Amino acid sequence: MSRYIGPVCRQCRREGIKLMLKGIRCETAKCPMEKQWRSNPPGMHAWRRGKGSGYALRLREKQKVKRFYGVLEKQFMLLFRQAERSKENTGTAMLQLLERRLDNVVCKAGFAPSRKSARVMITQGHIYVNGRRVDRPSFMINVGDKISVKPSDKSRALAKRHLELIGDRPPQPWIQRDSERLEAVVVTLPSRDDVQIPVEEQLIVEMCSR
Ligand code: SF4
Repeated sequence: MSRYIGPVCRQCRREGIKLMLKGIRCETAKCPMEKQWRSNPPGMHAWRRGKGSGYALRLREKQKVKRFYGVLEKQFMLLFRQAERSKENTGTAMLQLLERRLDNVVCKAGFAPSRKSARVMITQGHIYVNGRRVDRPSFMINVGDKISVKPSDKSRALAKRHLELIGDRPPQPWIQRDSERLEAVVVTLPSRDDVQIPVEEQLIVEMCSR
């Protein structure tokens, strides 16, 4: 499985928004995006770059979504082709598929402070779906699925620590969490309003449909 191993905050600076890739640290004053002098685009001559072409605009929108959800090009295009085949609006269907990924649901349920740590928890076997271990972060969650933490002291202590880190913040309405039992149930599919990043999905559709 390939993954991005470069500087994380650089991705936020490139996209010009907070992608919340480092969990709780992103909400503190340590976030470079909070500092005027560090929130510029990366690169030596970034200030020289102009507004960018229509292609650049579309590319940035696509990269922003890929980085926010932590997916690489191949996975993203597979999801996009799946969204194209659905009867819904392609852009909305694509965002919904990204929201339904197991790593995103584990993060939104509060069992992990970021999608990255959710992926680590999943691949290390700390997460169960409907009582069975699932070690694929890209696993698609459906309505009624129950996500739980492995019933071992180590896994439960880890998830509890993460819950404390986020201050037991309630999840979005499409996820119901039981903080005591460390379980979460998907009560409905996520809607467009549940996407927490400002994105013009139409630009991505225009780029990827070519
Ligand atoms: Fe880094 Fe998080 Fe701030 Fe992005 S939001 S720049 S990942 S600390």
